[in-house]
Amino acid sequence: MYRSHNNGELRFENVGEEISLSGWVQKVRDKGFMIWVDLRDRYGITQLIFDGERTDLSLVENARSLGREFVIQVKGKVIEREAKNNQIPTGDIEILVSELNILNESKVPPFTIENETDGGDELRMKYRYLDIRRKPVRENLIFRSKVTMAVRSYLSQEGFVDVETHYLIKSTPEGARDFVVPSRMNEGQFYALPQSPQTFKQLLMVGGLDKYFQIVKCFRDEDLRADRQPEFTQIDCEMAFVEQEDILNTFEGLVRYLLKEIKGLDLEAFPRISYDEAMRTYGNDKPDIRFDMKFGELNEMAQGKGFGVFDTQELIVGIAVPGCSGYSRKQIDKLIDFVKKPQIGANGLIWVKYNEDGSFKSSVDKFFNQEDLKLWADQVNAKPGDLILVMAGETDKTRSQMSVLRMELAEQLGLRNPNVFAPLWVLDFPLLEWDEESKRFHAMHHPFTSPKPEDVKLLDTDPGKVRANAYDMVLNGNEIGGGSIRIFDKAMQSRMFDLLGFTKAEAIDQFGFLMNAFEYGAPPHGGLAFGLDRLVAILGGRETIRDFIAFPKNNSGRDVMIDAPSVIDDGQLKELHLKLDL
Ligand code: ASP
Repeated sequence: MYRSHNNGELRFENVGEEISLSGWVQKVRDKGFMIWVDLRDRYGITQLIFDGERTDLSLVENARSLGREFVIQVKGKVIEREAKNNQIPTGDIEILVSELNILNESKVPPFTIENETDGGDELRMKYRYLDIRRKPVRENLIFRSKVTMAVRSYLSQEGFVDVETHYLIKSTPEGARDFVVPSRMNEGQFYALPQSPQTFKQLLMVGGLDKYFQIVKCFRDEDLRADRQPEFTQIDCEMAFVEQEDILNTFEGLVRYLLKEIKGLDLEAFPRISYDEAMRTYGNDKPDIRFDMKFGELNEMAQGKGFGVFDTQELIVGIAVPGCSGYSRKQIDKLIDFVKKPQIGANGLIWVKYNEDGSFKSSVDKFFNQEDLKLWADQVNAKPGDLILVMAGETDKTRSQMSVLRMELAEQLGLRNPNVFAPLWVLDFPLLEWDEESKRFHAMHHPFTSPKPEDVKLLDTDPGKVRANAYDMVLNGNEIGGGSIRIFDKAMQSRMFDLLGFTKAEAIDQFGFLMNAFEYGAPPHGGLAFGLDRLVAILGGRETIRDFIAFPKNNSGRDVMIDAPSVIDDGQLKELHLKLDL
């Protein structure tokens, strides 16, 4: 037996017991004929004492040879500690060691393996197995496991069947770029790794499985943005004989269950807003509603008053920044500089201070009197003491610029509290999105999403206006999940491919299998997928998904631990028909 207890387990009640422990040496403190060692495992740290006076002097000699991260086993007696440590649960006791076995030695680790480490990101990724010995990283992985267990338990209680779909599939150009895998046995042909199991879960519905889920890896060869991984995990779900309302209820139930199980929180029914309203009110389809600062449109009250800058603009929009009417010129200038940064690209900001005494002071006092500004204040829901900030310009651009400013202010004012959870549904997304570059429509969600029945007639006349039976779940300003009610009718599906610019032959080549399936009694169905990595990170109160992935890739998509991707040798290339015999 390597151990009778783990290193987080022993308490004052155990004093006097003979025990054995195993683990890693975190720290050695050598005081001559006494040596203390902090012994670590997944469960915690227990202090060992090697005492030449109370046991054997040779034991102390042995202990002196221990280095950081040596793997040892000890036997000894639990004794009361003289200097108690109330920082750790085992802090009342220590182990008077009577036998020491060195199970394995260790080189000096490249960074300190403690809660706070001196290792940089890349170094810690290279030695991820050492980083995982650190409590914060280990706890994140355990936390992730807790979340996935809870997901499985909710979904299986609800009757969902966990089905594994295949990873070697066919490449389709729609959506992001595929990772492809050359086929040795089929010269010149390639598999692709799935960007999501979308079509397969739909086929499972045709197959009558009724309720499916899978915690599944998805692969997308996109240009990496910060905190994106080329392979990531989804909680992928599909249900048959459902309408949007059924899906919303089932998966709101899931997230509510997770917040209760994991965080002990009871949440009210999730608010629902339309995509249009989200854009109008927050300039964003994934609004953070932990704080207010809703947009107020000011065109009516701000145009035609002689302020030329406003008169010609498509949209004038303001927000009330709570409690900031006392901002100095310098503080406001900083915000103006912020919105003028090229990444944001606004022309500037108009400001109005709604003073505590109810009066207004603004950068446009020449054009607007106190009554005018009171109307603005009402429109943006400002209270005395608030600072009103206004932007003007082309509608979409101005909304998105204002949205960036809103988030920045919330950050500065500490309103993005990671311990507050504010989920909502965003509904009624547009079905199609016009792409200027290719001069054609793209599916906003994916080509299998159904149009709202009442909008189907617009498909011929004004496709850009058609709304979809598509929904996103948003949590604290992040899209954590999204899905749709699907098309289940062959004619409609083929019409959709037409609209998206597929030729008949392309549609059949790429999605013939799905359209064929739709000829054999496809039930109405719909579903959604959650991004597990992001969901776990948010529940864990953190920003970066990498912290919750066992072996993440860096920002250029490299695995620095195993050094991948890498070149393969000529023989392999030849076998895969990727290298011509010259
Ligand atoms: N497959 C979709 C996605 O990956 C989710 C869904 O529609 O269920 O975004």
